[in-house]
Amino acid sequence: MDERGIYLDNNATTPVDPAVIEAVVDALEHGFGNPSSQHRFGEEARRSLEAARSSVAGLFGARSSSEIVFTSGGTESIQTALFAALSGRPPGVVLTSATEHAAVLRPLERWREQRIDHERVPVDRDGRIDVERLLERVADLGPRLRLVTLHWANNETGALLLDSDIERLSRATRAAGALFHLDAVQIPGKLPMRIDGLGVDLASISAHKFHGPKGVGALYVRAGALERFPALLTGGPQEGDRRAGTPNLPGIAGLARAAELARAHAEDRAARARVRDLRDLLEAELASRFSEARVNGNAGPRLENTSSITLPGVDGELLLMTLASEGVAVSGGAACSSQKRAPSHVLLAMGLSEEEASQTVRFSLSRRTTEPEIRRALAIVLRVVEDLQALRTGR
Ligand code: PLP
Repeated sequence: MDERGIYLDNNATTPVDPAVIEAVVDALEHGFGNPSSQHRFGEEARRSLEAARSSVAGLFGARSSSEIVFTSGGTESIQTALFAALSGRPPGVVLTSATEHAAVLRPLERWREQRIDHERVPVDRDGRIDVERLLERVADLGPRLRLVTLHWANNETGALLLDSDIERLSRATRAAGALFHLDAVQIPGKLPMRIDGLGVDLASISAHKFHGPKGVGALYVRAGALERFPALLTGGPQEGDRRAGTPNLPGIAGLARAAELARAHAEDRAARARVRDLRDLLEAELASRFSEARVNGNAGPRLENTSSITLPGVDGELLLMTLASEGVAVSGGAACSSQKRAPSHVLLAMGLSEEEASQTVRFSLSRRTTEPEIRRALAIVLRVVEDLQALRTGR
């Protein structure tokens, strides 16, 4: 157990795997060449860059490593995808959902200035995207549709799109002559990714969400999906002219090692079941002690590591702070929104009231979470919640 406490906030970021640290340090020590250089140092750097690309293609389940573009993380991958799909295109519409990450929703607001509008399709009480409604909108919009962008899984609740639904949506989108981008940031290490079979055009990931370093990620670009690929970052011809700038080789070496480990974990059913059983234990114990506790999204498909729990009568902010002081690291929604007190747009879109949203905490586990950690965290959570309830009722 880490002396700083029990870390159950893995959808925000993950501890870096020791094997990843080794790969980063090795690249820093030995792989300093510029992959664009013509000498031996450059050639070695080029070779490690291409080996890394192949590992990341393997994680995605891509057909070819030429379909992988390295970026600075999830946010840049997403904006690169939006830019490539939308820039220079006639006015039109983007379809998305109400529960997407701010890294998608905020740039879409800006695209309105270019007369590219967007519609946010609603989700149900369990965070399920209304796939039928989306398919109808795809058909209605026809040639006015430019892009469909959806998250594979939601970071706050773990609510998940099924592979079969992604396939239906990507097929319909292609038939309408538009592109399909998948925000896959929460998927590596949690589910096997067979991106080629899903038929999506673009997909984004970020290394720090799967035990890799921060500030590095990748964008999958299906071969032949885009006639032209206007780059968001222009300058040198790196990444096949799709992302200029000398690549972050140490970060990419870490991303590649993390990708190999994430892929192995996601393909290992027993290892995944261990994480799910720990999550289920947490939920079962909380539900047995607090009958009014509700697990958000539990009637729909969801990630096996994530638990978003609303505890009526408990001030989530106070709970979070008290747990933090007792060494249990959880989150009250998206990490980025936990600094400001605005209620989570994800929970509101699922029909929770502002009060219910403020009474919600998110536990997110990783392959490194242990049973003693969960049992210890549970003992603390149960005690703290009881104390807060007693404080409120004055008992
Ligand atoms: N998309 C989702 C679903 C996320 O959870 C996150 C990060 O929380 C992002 C995008 C942005 O990724 P990054 O912060 O690595 O740029």
